[in-house]
Amino acid sequence: MLNFAPYLSTMNIPQSSFPRIVIIGGGFGGISLAKKLSKKEVQVVLLDKHNYHNFQPLLYQVSTGGLEPDSIAYPIRKVLQNYPNFFFRLAEVNEVITKEKLIKTNIGDLKYDYLVLATGSETNFFGNSEIEKNSMAMKTIPQALNLRSLILENFEQALLTDDLHERDALMNFVIVGGGPTGVELAGALAEIKKGILPKDYPDLDTRRAQINIIQAGDCLLKGMSSKASKKAEDFLEKLGVQVWKNTRVTSYDGKLVTTKTDLTFESATLVWAAGVQAVSLKGLNAKEFLTYSNRLKVNEFNLVEGFDTIFAIGDVALMETEDCPYGHPMMAQPAIQQGKCLGDNLVRLLEEKPMKPFEYKDKGSMATIGRNKAVVDLPNFKFQGVFAWFVWMFVHLFFLIGFRNRMVVFINWVYNYIRFDREARLIIRPYRKNYSQFKD
Ligand SMILES: Cc1cc2nc3c(=O)[nH]c(=O)nc-3n(C[C@H](O)[C@H](O)[C@H](O)COP(=O)(O)OP(=O)(O)OC[C@H]3O[C@@H](n4cnc5c(N)ncnc54)[C@H](O)[C@@H]3O)c2cc1C
Repeated sequence: MLNFAPYLSTMNIPQSSFPRIVIIGGGFGGISLAKKLSKKEVQVVLLDKHNYHNFQPLLYQVSTGGLEPDSIAYPIRKVLQNYPNFFFRLAEVNEVITKEKLIKTNIGDLKYDYLVLATGSETNFFGNSEIEKNSMAMKTIPQALNLRSLILENFEQALLTDDLHERDALMNFVIVGGGPTGVELAGALAEIKKGILPKDYPDLDTRRAQINIIQAGDCLLKGMSSKASKKAEDFLEKLGVQVWKNTRVTSYDGKLVTTKTDLTFESATLVWAAGVQAVSLKGLNAKEFLTYSNRLKVNEFNLVEGFDTIFAIGDVALMETEDCPYGHPMMAQPAIQQGKCLGDNLVRLLEEKPMKPFEYKDKGSMATIGRNKAVVDLPNFKFQGVFAWFVWMFVHLFFLIGFRNRMVVFINWVYNYIRFDREARLIIRPYRKNYSQFKD
């Protein structure tokens, strides 16, 4: 066994004769790694700025009133509660001092023997601060709740104005980004327009509501097959969504969306789903460590280039391989698989055995556009429509953490399917948009 220097205990974490592995981030990668290290001869400290795991693929359903936020969140402490060698601390990590093997957080400093970064990604506004200030992102549960409130507040506000121009802008939704997030959100909004708004707002002409999805490239769902992309576009158009391709949004002042072409949109709501970038930490954010989208360059064992005790997994890691020269897709599967592989490798490392290189097994990708409408690309089989929709639901239920969450989501989906409804359309925490600009 390797020997480890004793260090002072901080954050009330007891000293241990076992090596200390600190994991930053309890997302898909961090949790799957932690599970692999259970009952091993290591002390594991998991740090996250939230006390819950967020199942991001269903965030759009929270934004559109289909699910309550607590059905897609799961307490991290519950995941770890049966492992005596585990410690969780609710902490935001600010810096890594690599020379001292120390991390600095908002609740104190902590030494590590091995460090794993699993900090995921954040919305990338590509340096456009005006869009960042005025648009809505959908990466966290609070952001999804803000969007839910804003959508509903817009309709309440639309009822109050006699100005048709202003009313149309309040009911005009612009989604930027034609990836799965944008497509799924556009489909859900179109279903709300069709099935819910006429009943909820009989005194408002909700037929005038518009849903626009804008994509800079020439197709939707770029990472999927051309068949899936085409079918998703057909589904959206049938639902009444306006699809704008080869259109790049350049600015949004909270009222007017401008693009590189002559196209403009007056809208109270712009949802930015056009890109993500890795969450980088001070101490590991120098140019020499970062690659595309701020991801840290790692080798085939997820070891960050230039270090022998710092690893990175999931969205924050970029591993160049022959199949994925720009790194694995920033999706849940690579994060889960890297977490599992690194768990085995850390045990091998401590037993002084050679580590095994990571091999990504592409299990396919999918997106849903609405009721009975989904597209699924499996490695050897691609299909769309009703069956794809059932497969999409089954896969999402399977990967949700927690029996209660699975049951709640399942019951909600059955109820919504039978009743054509989404009952979580509640303004619990109002989002304060400055509507006065529409009066100009
Ligand atoms: C709206 C949306 C829809 C998506 N849909 C899909 C989909 O359908 N299929 C799919 O495969 N993928 C989907 N993804 C992508 C998928 O969610 C990510 O690729 C995946 O979560 C990456 O896992 P991760 O472990 O790297 O990071 P995450 O799961 O994002 O976890 C990172 C964790 O780190 C914590 N953290 C970050 N910084 C700090 C810090 N400084 N200190 C402490 N804690 C910190 C965060 O709180 C978080 O808990 C979607 C993402 C979004 C936003």
